Formats: sequence, C-alpha cells, structure tokens
Amino acid sequence: MVGLLVHPPVTVRTSFGRERAVARCLATKTPASVLEAIATAVIQMTRRPMQPNSHRSIQDSLLSTHNIKLGWIRAHVGQQRNERADELAKDAILSTNATEVTIPLPKSSAKRDLKQRSLIKWQYMWDGHKYGRSTHKVITKVGLRSHNWPSELTQFITGHGPFPFYLYLFGKHPDDNCACGKVGTPIHYVTKCRLTLPLHLKFPAVQHREAWMISVTSRRQLINKIVQLLDYIIINEDQLKSDHPD
Ligand SMILES: [Zn+2]
Repeated sequence: MVGLLVHPPVTVRTSFGRERAVARCLATKTPASVLEAIATAVIQMTRRPMQPNSHRSIQDSLLSTHNIKLGWIRAHVGQQRNERADELAKDAILSTNATEVTIPLPKSSAKRDLKQRSLIKWQYMWDGHKYGRSTHKVITKVGLRSHNWPSELTQFITGHGPFPFYLYLFGKHPDDNCACGKVGTPIHYVTKCRLTLPLHLKFPAVQHREAWMISVTSRRQLINKIVQLLDYIIINEDQLKSDHPD
C-alpha cells in the first residue's frame, strides 16, 4: 500500500499527501512502525494536490529518522490507522485526478544492480576463457568471497608456482621438465614424481579428479600436505629442476 524505498522504479498514483505531515509525525513521536507513522500522517493530511518532489522529501524525512521500527500490521482487522491508509490508497488508485509520480531508483539498488551485472559478466568471461582452467575446475563460480588459501595451495591449484611447466613460460627454466624427465606440473609432483615420493597423495581415477581437487582445497590434512610439498620443492629446487638428477 505504501512504498518507502522502491525497487525497481515504479510509478505511484496518489491524490493525497504532504511531506510536512509525515515529517511532523516522525519528529514529534516515536512511531511503533513505519506503516503506523505514515498512516498517522495520512490522517492528518489534507486533500490538496501533492507538491512536486513531495515523494522525495518524504523519503528523505524517513531516511533521516533513526527511530523507525519496521513492523507488520495485520490487514483488515479494524486497526484504525491502517484501515484509513488502505482506504486512501484505494482512493488514489481509482481517482481520475491522481498525479503520477515516478520514484527514482535509490543508490543502494543501483549499486546492487551494478554488482549483479558485473558478477554475471565476470562469470561469463570466467567460464569461457582459455586460461585458468585448472582453477576453474575448483572455483566454478566467481564471487567476492576470499577463500583464504595458504599461498602454497594457491600456487598448487593455479599452477603459478615453482613448477618447471610454469617457469618455462617465462624463460625461468630451460624447459618444462622436472629433473626426472617428466613434465613438471603440480600434479606430477604430488602424484608421480619419484623425487617427491614421500610427499605423494593418492591420485584418483579420471572421473573423480575434479572432486579430488576440490577436496584438496577443503580438507586441512590435504592442505598441509600440499604446503609441505611446495616447501620441499622450493628448498630442493636445485635437485628437482635440473635437467638430469644424479
Ligand atoms: Zn619428476
């Protein structure tokens, strides 16, 4: 019946209302609820036409009042002010003299809408991009929440760490091979490489690998093993990244 912060923008038809009545009501008493406050104000209103920008003034009055308590009032049970407000709202809808008022979108709604659009665009780009696919298997949905991963786990999942496969892309390693002769990827070191055997994790079958990668990021025991592995690779860099071990 009465909208305070309206989203999306709507057109309100009204044949009554003066913002000063609402402001006076809010300033002189502690309203039990917003609806009750507005209903009280409405009772005090005259039927003179609504002034331009009155809706904005009413919004500002409500927003600058900090003792408003939102509450729900059962309809059509004889609550005098609520019944009166309901009656006036129906009059406004049916009135041929009604003034159409467009209430602009509040800033908060615009910000929420922009954020939602940004997330949708980000998700589209994340799903379709050719890079970051190993991370995409673990984090399929974009968002602003931090995962709080240890840096070693981030390096393992993204592959952006002390791995020949990655370092070779930037000329930081002569080739993409581990010292054992195989391609030096994170998965290689954690499941296959004979040089890191004590730190291996059991590698699942192909159909379970995505679930396995997700579990690596969520189980403390596995996270600790990944941290140990990365520390080991960094400390033993000379042995693990040379072309041929002894
Ligand atoms: Zn190896």
